[in-house]
Parts: sequence; C-alpha cells; structure tokens
Amino acid sequence: TYIVNDACIACKYTDCVEVCPVDCFYEGENMLVIHPDECIDCGVCEPECPADAIRPDTEPEMEKWVEFNRKYSELW
Ligand code: SF4
Repeated sequence: TYIVNDACIACKYTDCVEVCPVDCFYEGENMLVIHPDECIDCGVCEPECPADAIRPDTEPEMEKWVEFNRKYSELW
C-alpha cells in the first residue's frame, strides 16, 4: 500500500491521480491522500510525484501517515 506524506502540501501536480487504476486518491485539506484499503500497491503513481511524497507504507517514517490518509479518504 502506498501512502502520501506532507511533502505533498502545496504541490499542484495531479499526475498521480490520473494514473491510478483504482481511483483511490482523495483530497485532504491541503494535500492529497490515498485510501490505504483501496490501493492495490501497483506503484505506478510513485514515479509521477515530483515531490516524492508517495511512499510505501512499509517505510518506517511513513507509518504515522497511514491513519491520516485513511481519515481524510473516508471523509468522502
Ligand atoms: Fe493507485 Fe497504484 Fe498508487 Fe496505489 S500504488 S495509489 S493503486 S496508482
């Protein structure tokens, strides 16, 4: 599962959203988020992100972002 971190804030690119085959990106307050249960872990969005904000949830520094991504995904 891929997750978005705060490097996304104020990024104006949405290339990641366009390539996602399952449309699991959602709008947070000032950044995009990925629904962790909808992401199929395909990885195609990662190289599209110019801010390097999309990282696998297996990276230790991404752990704290998982619930944040889930929370904002489920507002919609
Ligand atoms: Fe979508 Fe694939 Fe990125 Fe997950 S890894 S958010 S399914 S493009």
